Amino acid sequence: MASSINLDSTVSNYAVVGNPVKHSKSPQIHSLFAKQTGISLNYQAIEVPLDNFNEYVKSFSSQGGKGLNITVPFKEEANSLCDSLTQRAKLCASVNTIWFEDNKIHGDTTDGKGLINDLIINHAIDINNKSVLILGAGGSVKAILEPLCEQKPGKIVIANRTVSRAEELAEKYSDKGNIVACSYSELVNQSFDLLINGTSLSLAGELPPIAETVIKNESCCYDLMYSDTGTIFMKWAAEQGASKVLDGLGMLVEQAAEAFLIWHGIKPDTVPVIKLLRS
Ligand code: NDP
Repeated sequence: MASSINLDSTVSNYAVVGNPVKHSKSPQIHSLFAKQTGISLNYQAIEVPLDNFNEYVKSFSSQGGKGLNITVPFKEEANSLCDSLTQRAKLCASVNTIWFEDNKIHGDTTDGKGLINDLIINHAIDINNKSVLILGAGGSVKAILEPLCEQKPGKIVIANRTVSRAEELAEKYSDKGNIVACSYSELVNQSFDLLINGTSLSLAGELPPIAETVIKNESCCYDLMYSDTGTIFMKWAAEQGASKVLDGLGMLVEQAAEAFLIWHGIKPDTVPVIKLLRS
């Protein structure tokens, strides 16, 4: 996919920008939302060279583009580029949704809300007072921490290969709940109600090095990654007896619906879109 800008002057133009980006389901999701809500738009996936992100966003805006979704590896760069940020985007230093208004670039992050909507609305998972284990301390974990804390879990444990990153997050969010950081090996003898795999290991077909005792029969295990055939983490969790195993497709559609709401003022119905993508 080239990074040239080819906008359709007859409709509003949007795009997801990343590198790589050809795997992205966002064009399909936004087209389905547009069809459902009767809004005309053109939504493309644009692969932007790693050193050309800022210039691309400014050109897209100057040529009349209305908004952008941002994916790996540009979410932090997008955060620095924006003239104005929502509180939640400021807090996690990440932006996945941009819109252009009053000659300014505005940014928000909808990833965290996307996860919470999927867990609570789509899957009726109760987080209140529950124990939560988060594996990983990268960009996506930063984005989900605050909305998770708002659900008032009993405790959150963040385990990461680079423990200092988990410690930084636990410290940063310490006023928002009972959050501790640890290494994977320190998880022995602990079990959790909700486990969230926020590492990128599933992508490589690998598991985080954790004891199976972290899972109990009532555990719900959620992999932020999604896959048509189920991720390796989901398969492992099911083998350990977890009562629910879920992937991140619902989160993907829910974060897109929140972006759609920002851009168009209408919240689309996500359920038929998730169903269609699964089929
Ligand atoms: P980052 O690159 O920011 O973070 C990667 C994390 O994985 C870090 O915690 C890193 O640990 C850990 N990790 C990577 N390799 C290893 C390894 N070999 N052993 C142990 N730990 C490892 O990635 P993101 O946070 O952006 O993405 C994480 C996952 O979330 C991806 O699978 C992505 O597809 C998914 N995602 C899904 C979304 C959705 O809508 N469903 C939205 C966003 C992300 P360390 O700090 O030690 O390097």
